[in-house]
Amino acid sequence: MKENPVKNNTLISVLLALIVFSISANAQPQSVINLPQDSRVPGGLAVIPLNATSIDKDISFKGKPVWQLKDHANNHWAVIGIPLSQKAGKVDFKIDGKDHSFTIKDKAYKEQYLTVKRKHSNPPADQIKRIQKESRLSQKAFTTFSDTGKNSTFKGFLKPAQGPTSSPFGLKRFFNEQARRPHSGLDIAAPRGANIIAPADGEIILTGNFFFNGNSIFIDHGQGLITMYCHMDKLDSQQGDVVKAGDIIGKVGSTGRATGPHLHWTVSLNNNRVEPLLFLAEPTN
Ligand SMILES: [Zn+2]
Repeated sequence: MKENPVKNNTLISVLLALIVFSISANAQPQSVINLPQDSRVPGGLAVIPLNATSIDKDISFKGKPVWQLKDHANNHWAVIGIPLSQKAGKVDFKIDGKDHSFTIKDKAYKEQYLTVKRKHSNPPADQIKRIQKESRLSQKAFTTFSDTGKNSTFKGFLKPAQGPTSSPFGLKRFFNEQARRPHSGLDIAAPRGANIIAPADGEIILTGNFFFNGNSIFIDHGQGLITMYCHMDKLDSQQGDVVKAGDIIGKVGSTGRATGPHLHWTVSLNNNRVEPLLFLAEPTN
């Protein structure tokens, strides 16, 4: 470069400044995840910066307490799970009773048509009581809000099973031509017996064999962040177990309403099922 005739030093300075700028812009550590990904759509997340005076305030969304955390630079944030049924537009949340708002954009999720066994499409009458009981247990788990982890940092989730996505979160599904609720989790295709790991530290608050979901586990990660694993072949853990990120909690299977072995993974925040990919530390397919 120095052999080239350059008319003034200003040009060199500008070029150097550009090179230094582009290097520093690319030099951010990719492996350090400070926060889940902001995505203000139905089934997404609002990641909201809090000023210093908002620390340890009472923050709520639709009457439910909200996850508060710190990033690695000690900034404070609130993370709100947005319901899949949320209409686009302005939505309110509260800080110490005072209204604040953010705006939600629409998202067109894909549609899928499936043919399933009649038994599971319309459950038999003698299973209704069981299904209702399981629904109550699941609701109780999803509405858990433990104060552990308040204002701690977020490390990013590990992917709980290895394999491609066989059914994305939010998919609008039709079983035997009947519209069902949209897909509230992410399906990972993996062979029967493959390991399922805890994506982050937490406590197992519910396990069981459910009519629709088969062998299932719920993990409480604190601050209203709950994850659920379904259709498991085998449970390698039980209620009350404390798990660390990466611990094996069970094996992939096809128990319950499943057409083949896969892991159905649900992430719930402030009792709203949200896109699990927004929490992953590593980009995925
Ligand atoms: Zn699923």
